[in-house]
Amino acid sequence: MTRRTVDDVTGTLCDVTGGAPASTTGAVCGFVLSHATAAHDMEIVQAHLTHRGEMKTIDARDNVPPVRRAILVVALFAVFAFPRAAHAQSGGLDAVFGLSFSIARQTASDARIVDEGWVDAQINEANRLFSPLGTRFRWTIEKPLAETHASMHTRADRDALTPLTEANGVVDVFLVRELEDVDDPGTYRRGVCWTGKGGKRFLIVSQVAGISVLAHELGHFFGNQHTQVTDNLMSYSRTGAPPFLDDGQKATITAFSTRFLATGRLVDVGPPIRFF
Ligand SMILES: [Zn+2]
Repeated sequence: MTRRTVDDVTGTLCDVTGGAPASTTGAVCGFVLSHATAAHDMEIVQAHLTHRGEMKTIDARDNVPPVRRAILVVALFAVFAFPRAAHAQSGGLDAVFGLSFSIARQTASDARIVDEGWVDAQINEANRLFSPLGTRFRWTIEKPLAETHASMHTRADRDALTPLTEANGVVDVFLVRELEDVDDPGTYRRGVCWTGKGGKRFLIVSQVAGISVLAHELGHFFGNQHTQVTDNLMSYSRTGAPPFLDDGQKATITAFSTRFLATGRLVDVGPPIRFF
């Protein structure tokens, strides 16, 4: 089992967007914001963040011209204003939940059936839809999925994943080569939110899944059923436009998220490694 990204308790690594990685230790999560212009070398502004993303100190280079200093200020404001705006929309909820991915291997090699970019794209799409509600996701655990579980055909196949789930605290996602419909044999699905024996819920996602399938299954995990509305996240009717959630679905997600936190079904694992 591999623990990825920031350690749940101490925080050891924060990635960056467009700049070099910055390693930090301790409870404070740090990152480097890079701002480049065509005429000048890259300027580095270091911002030290508290656990919840609040700025503690900013150290900028002293010789930054006033105009570009103003640009930096605006950029920093945008960085820190966004989570505050999302915080306001969510009614105060601001939780980051860990995702545990168990990934099957390809038939002809030990390579994973999907690469990290594929997984990141799924998580990013889920965060696009969920983060305005104060619920975000971060990849915290990766495990190999044994060949015996790589192809899902029956209810028993799905139930057999239950012992492989983590204890409460994260959402388990099993990435498989194929996922046959247990009610309609011969039909292959892209994902499912499954409740195993004993009541443990987890997600199974096929390698053929489109970019919003993880978000759709998380929509089920957070209490939503299907709808017929075209391009809704929880609908099978899609035009290719970015899917959306309606107000009732958003309220359901917030209620489930709050309940998961209160009961310990899911726990807050701290800020995401990428802030935007
Ligand atoms: Zn569904």
